[in-house]
Amino acid sequence: MDDPGKRSQGHELMSWSIVARDAIEGRPPAGEAALRMLALADRATPALVEAAWRVREHHFGRRVKAHVVVSASRGGCAEDCSYCSQSAVSAAAVQRQRLLSPGEILERAAAARRAGAKRLCVVTAGRAAQEREIATVMEATRLIKKKVGLEVCASLGMLDAGTAQALKAAGVDAYNHNLNTAHDRYGEVCSTHRYEDRLATVAAAKAAGLEVCSGVIVGLGETDRELVEMAYALRDLSVSSIPVNFLLPVPGTALGGGDTVRHLTPWHCLRVLSMFRIVNPEVDLRISAGRERYLRSLQPLSLLICNSFFLGNYLTQPGQSADSDRMMVADLGLLLEQAPAAGVALGAPAGARE
Ligand code: SF4
Repeated sequence: MDDPGKRSQGHELMSWSIVARDAIEGRPPAGEAALRMLALADRATPALVEAAWRVREHHFGRRVKAHVVVSASRGGCAEDCSYCSQSAVSAAAVQRQRLLSPGEILERAAAARRAGAKRLCVVTAGRAAQEREIATVMEATRLIKKKVGLEVCASLGMLDAGTAQALKAAGVDAYNHNLNTAHDRYGEVCSTHRYEDRLATVAAAKAAGLEVCSGVIVGLGETDRELVEMAYALRDLSVSSIPVNFLLPVPGTALGGGDTVRHLTPWHCLRVLSMFRIVNPEVDLRISAGRERYLRSLQPLSLLICNSFFLGNYLTQPGQSADSDRMMVADLGLLLEQAPAAGVALGAPAGARE
């Protein structure tokens, strides 16, 4: 597990605890300190994870928030994101899915609640949602709030101010739009839209009063410095929630060969998550796609850093079973946050089963 060529722990055992204390007290690490986190040797990484745990425990205690993702529609996107199996340039076999009805989304929400989720993430494919998709998500949200009671996050691509306000009025709690990668790398990952377009959608969601969920995909060819830049960019945007995905290369996509993910060892993934946690101490930090594949037997440690995870399957890839996820949470001595009650006024705070 050790890499003798990398920095050893020694004096850093002490310094990470100081970095954690500073993060808790509102003083983020300097960029160079964040870079050092990513360059740690494996044998020095448990001290960093412990520092991240201190920050996580301070803000979230033993609480964990489970999200379930549902594809409201799938396939046939005209964009060319190099990592995505649904893109126009992908040769991957993706089963297209017609738009679910509001009633079908409601059924998925009820199942998600039974499985232990607090939030349902409703996702459509494409650059921006069509009117019919937006209307469906709005109606589904109204039904969910009335009959099931989950939080709802919509992920419908690019957003204008009017749609953002309409979603908010329908009861949508949050809007997901990931930055995915660093500003200077964006052109290599996608040519049909720009990083600035992503920032504009984040701004529209925020202006409408929606919580903003925006995260990254690790393993798109980015450097460590760019990963640190992403963590600070999300801090500067004051997002509420950061999903950290590790690329699952899909054969038939431009990154399907897996060359950009060979460095994703379990300890490296834990370093990445710890860096994001310490730079963004109060954010809902979510271990997302790739948890099972890259963290393998170390995946429980990710929940000592992140306070949130996806329960069950991901958008286009299978995940660990919901039973195994719940057992992992229980074995760690953590507690699933409880979903809000159905029919309660929008925005009412929900407690934890603590
Ligand atoms: S816009 Fe979304 S659905 Fe379309 S290719 Fe990019 S990631 Fe895939």
